[in-house]
Amino acid sequence: MRIACVGGGPAGLYFALLMKLREPGHDITVLERNTADSTQGWGVTLGRDLLEELHRCDPVSAQEIHQAAFSQFDQVVDIHGRQVLYPGGGGYGISRQRLLDILACRAQGLGVRVEFGHEVMPASQLPTADLIVACDGVNSRVRQEAGAFQADVRLGDNKYLWLGTSKVFESFTYAFVPTDRGWVWAYCYGIGGGQSTFIVECSSETWAGLGFGTLSPQDGLSVLEKLFEGHLDEHPLLGQVQPGPGAGWLNFRTVTSRRWYDGRIVLAGDAAHTTHYTTGSGTILAIEDAIALAGNLQRHPGDQKLALASYERQRKAALRRPQSDARFSARWFESISRYADLEAHEFSALLHGRQSPLLPHLPPRLYHRLHQVTEEVTVLGELRRRLGPKAKALYSRYKPGQPGSGSAIRD
Ligand SMILES: Cc1cc2nc3c(=O)[nH]c(=O)nc-3n(C[C@H](O)[C@H](O)[C@H](O)COP(=O)(O)OP(=O)(O)OC[C@H]3O[C@@H](n4cnc5c(N)ncnc54)[C@H](O)[C@@H]3O)c2cc1C
Repeated sequence: MRIACVGGGPAGLYFALLMKLREPGHDITVLERNTADSTQGWGVTLGRDLLEELHRCDPVSAQEIHQAAFSQFDQVVDIHGRQVLYPGGGGYGISRQRLLDILACRAQGLGVRVEFGHEVMPASQLPTADLIVACDGVNSRVRQEAGAFQADVRLGDNKYLWLGTSKVFESFTYAFVPTDRGWVWAYCYGIGGGQSTFIVECSSETWAGLGFGTLSPQDGLSVLEKLFEGHLDEHPLLGQVQPGPGAGWLNFRTVTSRRWYDGRIVLAGDAAHTTHYTTGSGTILAIEDAIALAGNLQRHPGDQKLALASYERQRKAALRRPQSDARFSARWFESISRYADLEAHEFSALLHGRQSPLLPHLPPRLYHRLHQVTEEVTVLGELRRRLGPKAKALYSRYKPGQPGSGSAIRD
């Protein structure tokens, strides 16, 4: 089978290596417009579940990813000069470049041709192949030009900037900073190699009010370094080299596609769907697409249409929950002024409960109280189940009213 993957991100590379691993006779090419050593974005988080899945699919690359990943055990919410700590709430962070290097190297070692610096231009230039996997990212040219996928693309209200820093954040940290134009916050996590990802976000009004749209990239970084000086311990912020005022700032694009395949073309990863980065799941879902696509092609040899239909059905169903979570998560951060006056422990409890469909419809303090009560009932129910007759004695020692979420506050 001749396969061409347009785009050498996690979806394209992982699919290519899996297919080659399962059937060395396949002729597989990955066409990637960037050079081998340049990618957009800093690092991403990967959950423990994904690493286990990678070990099942290809222990060789999984081992390398595991070794390169930086383990963050805790999460911290830093607001109003207080830090609320969630022990054990973290995952793994890895530099995007390192992840792609590992996948490209493994794919090439198995015999996949990876052509860097090869941009697929108009759809008429699509390579001759039995199967074309369009895994060319959120702005997929193949998806847009083919027109058959009926994609819906929505722009988020907030602005974000994907930066790095040489400060190593040991815990996944949400850092919130007030300004006279509104809140600015950052998601910070270690990614190995003495670096961390540092994603800055704020409302469009705050962004305009602070002048980020007119500042050069370097001046913009200086303003952000000043704003976050309490978190950076004199480490610099690192941008990607881009010209022009306001460069690098984006509004997140949420993509959904009604159809995932058309003839010999199939979508995978961000080309098919995106989920807001505040749920840290886009890379995971892209790799899961690759696993599902390879699995379905293997299950239905000789019937590509059936394989693609089954892949589309399976992945659409799997995406329902993450897409809903991502929508609520994005909306929570777009409504930050609704929550920012809460006490630090209330704010961070609601930040962690932001995927609830109920939260936008209830006053935040009332929701927080309900959340506490439900947690207490759950904890008590679990104690009763586990301890049986001994539970009564323990109930009398348990003090309702304490945060039941396992968080702790540091000043
Ligand atoms: C700020 C931010 C933070 C994120 N953090 C996380 C996180 O913590 N955890 C997580 O799981 N996900 C995260 N994500 C999401 C994640 O980055 C994406 O979901 C993931 O990269 C999707 O993989 P992909 O292979 O589908 O697409 P991409 O990684 O976008 O790869 C597409 C590739 O196609 C290439 N390409 C595009 N057009 C062409 C063309 N015409 N010809 C040839 N090549 C082409 C591009 O150069 C690119 O290399 C984050 C996203 C953002 C924006």
